[in-house]
Amino acid sequence: MSTVASSVQANSTSLPSRTRSGRVYKLQCNNDPNVFYVGSTTQNLCARLSCHRFAANNGSTRPLHKIMRSLGINNWTISQLQTFDAINDIDLRKAEQQQIDLLRPTLNKKRAYRTNEQRLASVREAQYKARFNYTCNCGLHYAIKTVMTKHLAARPDHKLIRGSC
Ligand SMILES: [Zn+2]
Repeated sequence: MSTVASSVQANSTSLPSRTRSGRVYKLQCNNDPNVFYVGSTTQNLCARLSCHRFAANNGSTRPLHKIMRSLGINNWTISQLQTFDAINDIDLRKAEQQQIDLLRPTLNKKRAYRTNEQRLASVREAQYKARFNYTCNCGLHYAIKTVMTKHLAARPDHKLIRGSC
């Protein structure tokens, strides 16, 4: 083997495409089958559940952990939806997102995986919102305070939900 070939070989093992075993799971409240979360992990499910319980017990502000606290930390069941013998981190997040799209869990607030197009769209939306500082509850955005003040004055049932007039 030439030295070039062996150095390429050495590099390829450190790329993020490194694979290991992984699973997509469902974490469900025992009181209500509609209250559940979908996640993915390279840990075993017992360890993953312990992590969520630990975080919930120790003041985590993630929506899932807040709800775990309010409904009882020991009141949840974890179950496996999919398992992979060898998967890289990106493909595992894609698999998780597929299950989220399929099952529509009530407790997932963030996407596990976004395409470049989806990432660009959210950047564009943030830029748009940053330019228009005033938002009415009817969905209209305005950049200029006096314009929003007029809009609100003419529509007493509308309310400002962002910015202050
Ligand atoms: Zn309005």
